[in-house]
Amino acid sequence: MLQINPNLSDLVTDAAAGLADRLQSKATITAAAPGRVNLIGEHIDYCDGFVMPFAIDRYIVIAGCANGTSQARITSALSEEIVTLDLTQPQETSEPKWANYLRGVIRGFQDRGHHIPGFHAYILSSIPGGAGLSSSAALECATATFLEGLLDTVLDTKEKALLCQKAEHDFAHVPCGIMDQFASAFGKPNRLVLIDCKTGEPELVPFENPDLTVLISNTMVNHELSDGGYAARRKHTEDGLAILGKASWRDVSAADVHANWEKLGEPVNRRSRHVVGEISRTIAAAAALARNDFETLGPLMAASHDSLRDDFEVSCKELDIMVEIARKIGRNGGVIGTRMTGGGFGGSTVTLCESRKASEIAAALGVEYEKATGIKPQIFASRPSQGAHLVG
Ligand code: ADP
Ligand code: MG
Repeated sequence: MLQINPNLSDLVTDAAAGLADRLQSKATITAAAPGRVNLIGEHIDYCDGFVMPFAIDRYIVIAGCANGTSQARITSALSEEIVTLDLTQPQETSEPKWANYLRGVIRGFQDRGHHIPGFHAYILSSIPGGAGLSSSAALECATATFLEGLLDTVLDTKEKALLCQKAEHDFAHVPCGIMDQFASAFGKPNRLVLIDCKTGEPELVPFENPDLTVLISNTMVNHELSDGGYAARRKHTEDGLAILGKASWRDVSAADVHANWEKLGEPVNRRSRHVVGEISRTIAAAAALARNDFETLGPLMAASHDSLRDDFEVSCKELDIMVEIARKIGRNGGVIGTRMTGGGFGGSTVTLCESRKASEIAAALGVEYEKATGIKPQIFASRPSQGAHLVG
């Protein structure tokens, strides 16, 4: 039941073969960027909150080369199509949609005065798309890293992540916070990327206890973040802050939300309660994890899920079912904490568990989830992994 993560070096080999096959080219530049899972701190990266993701051992790899023209020719293992981009022009959104992530990142480089020479590129991924694991941020960060290789330049990591975030805003129309691109760009083996989203500074926090395993359970229910649910939530939080008359959610207490409940109105009051609750839960969770206090951490993850389900309303039936199954296995069965992860409306759950029971837990999640929904989930474990980098 526990799926093995494809080896990055195998992915790189296969991407080179894909480039040769589809674009008759030899790979001279190969970039890899990981997806991410978030342990806690959901939907608060755009609210000056704290978030605690890490880069997972699942990657998007882009293999390519300069082609001596002023055009990019790009394709993906997931697409029959070869997309041609005219690099003499500033990039704009167009069809097919998947190429917009690349167009947006190229545009970010163009806006910084870079002239992008023609190239061939082939994309191969081990990150399930639309599963709340940020394949989109990985695609952006892999593209940016590929362009760094092509241009023989290196962007400051934070600037690179922000460039990628802007691509997601302007070219995918998802008004995301900074978590996904920061996790993909800054990730390191055995480190969580604890981000203070007010200062925009990531802190790499050790996560190397071999007795802990992070299970990721993909419900196989795909989300569509550009369909408005995500943007609507973000708007609610902006409205809430304006009604409260504060400059930052960090200046708002739970008591402030409670005292202004009627004034905030439905559903902004519940959205606001999620934001302030989740910020304090994440601070508490980081402290609990640092002292291996799992009896505190588990309930914080549970409260996070309940708040996302009831107050922020971004969970879905299948995510709730997966979480309930893990909750039933419980602490005695080796489950420390479990919750939905990522933007929601489908996607994956994250379950922190004891390593010695991880296979057993994964098997039970698989069997019980399929029994309840008729859907076979995808379940794998990941340790924190290396962020976006050039390979070789
Ligand atoms: P998530 O980021 O949670 O995976 P998104 O909906 O934000 O979900 O991003 C998924 C989109 O990213 C896909 O619909 C596709 O456009 C693009 N994408 C992801 N992986 C690939 C890939 N291997 N090749 C081409 N496009 C991809
Ligand atoms: Mg995404």
